[in-house]
Amino acid sequence: MSLLAKKRSAAMAAKLKDSGLKATPQRLAIMRVLAESKGHPSVDDIYRRLQRRFPGISPATVYRNIMLIKSLGEAVEISLAGSASRYDGRKPYPHPHIVCVECGNILDPELASLGDMTREVTAASGFEIKSFRLDFFGVCPACRKKSGS
Ligand SMILES: [Zn+2]
Ligand SMILES: [Zn+2]
Repeated sequence: MSLLAKKRSAAMAAKLKDSGLKATPQRLAIMRVLAESKGHPSVDDIYRRLQRRFPGISPATVYRNIMLIKSLGEAVEISLAGSASRYDGRKPYPHPHIVCVECGNILDPELASLGDMTREVTAASGFEIKSFRLDFFGVCPACRKKSGS
């Protein structure tokens, strides 16, 4: 596990403790998967990763725990039309995503213009921006290579 993932995982566990919630081994394992997954896993992805270690775990358990982790502000949900939601526990705050429409891979693009964009929206609307959603859809380099486009 990378140092960053360890830090995220520890921060999540601390939040759990502060909220007076039980740090069950399953719950901590789900947090660990969320903290170390770069690929924005779905409930099923997390379930499959933990199934062997926790034979009693079910997708419903994973789902309930993710909802809990989300309510603590320690993960964000990426809702996609027509497919299962994906989760990011590495960056538990709004950030842009880029989604491959072929393989479903989701990455976090680094956008230097994001701050400018937020200021522009504020200036144009007079809103105080609290959050945002920004998703790009396309075909990733690996899928482009496969299809030869
Ligand atoms: Zn792809
Ligand atoms: Zn993300």
